[in-house]
Amino acid sequence: MEKQKLLINGERLKNTIEEFANFGRTERGGVTRLALTEEDRLARDYFCKCCHELEMIVKVDDMGNIYATMEGVDPSKPPIVIGSHLDSVKKGGRFDGALGVLAGLEVARTLKENNVKPSAQLVVMNITNEEGARFEPSMMASGVLSGKFDKDKMLAKKDTDGLTFEEALNKIGYVGEIEARIKEATAFLEIHIEQGPILERENLSVAVVESVLGMVCYEIVVTGESDHAGTTPMDMRKDALFAATNMIVKARSKLRTLDSALVFTMGRINAFPNIHTVIPNKVVFTLEARHKDPAIIQKVEEIILALPEISDHEGCTITAEKLWDRQTVFLMKNCVTRLRRLVNL
Ligand SMILES: [Zn+2]
Repeated sequence: MEKQKLLINGERLKNTIEEFANFGRTERGGVTRLALTEEDRLARDYFCKCCHELEMIVKVDDMGNIYATMEGVDPSKPPIVIGSHLDSVKKGGRFDGALGVLAGLEVARTLKENNVKPSAQLVVMNITNEEGARFEPSMMASGVLSGKFDKDKMLAKKDTDGLTFEEALNKIGYVGEIEARIKEATAFLEIHIEQGPILERENLSVAVVESVLGMVCYEIVVTGESDHAGTTPMDMRKDALFAATNMIVKARSKLRTLDSALVFTMGRINAFPNIHTVIPNKVVFTLEARHKDPAIIQKVEEIILALPEISDHEGCTITAEKLWDRQTVFLMKNCVTRLRRLVNL
């Protein structure tokens, strides 16, 4: 039998996104739907209602994640999960997060109206507090699910009014069973708005993400000597800020020629004592870099560690400490390949 080619109903998806944008709609057409607020509850309730209409089985886990399941042909196969988050930041966009959940809902609707049973179960998932705008950190519930965060610590996190995550979760009535947590999946798919400007520059409407970039972050401390800004001759100074700027300029010129796909940021810098009449005796700054290839990240680290040697340190001492790093995570190759084929890339 020839495989049926199913197409979703774009107009319906668009309308659904607009409907969900009513929960916490802002004046300029965005949404403020912080996690576990009344607006979030309304969006969740409506999502559950839509899934029930499709006769999906809706379950909630102990972190408030929602799973709507459509039966598959082979119940022994781990589910195909499509999902994202219905919570938003303050004055967020109406597509961020919602698109990923509602795209899943649209897939379920399309399957249902065409009487197609997916080969494996289909789960449409709403992940609690991905944004972390009300309760830090972001990706909280997915972090607990994947064992990165401790559940009790996360439940105790407070919003600015002093309400804990656990209390807020109880308040909106979305505390479920730990057994409902997802444990395995054939694939997890998330469609998300691009958080950068590249698609627009390339005049593309869609792309397929291959990996989550590896990254490394260093903190560099430059120590000199504080002296009077008026009475200390220039050749007798150990100015930590001048030494730091030498390093920053050097780092930039070295890193920018390393690889065109490398991105690097020196996003935090503090000078001490930060008084206009005193020569800075200490400067602390960070340098973080991201790239897919671990070999490039390795080269970045070599450059950072060589900085004290290759830049004029003005008589100051320099230390560089790695704060943290993360390996590149490659997404499932066969999913990436199939998606690329589907969107003609
Ligand atoms: Zn998002």
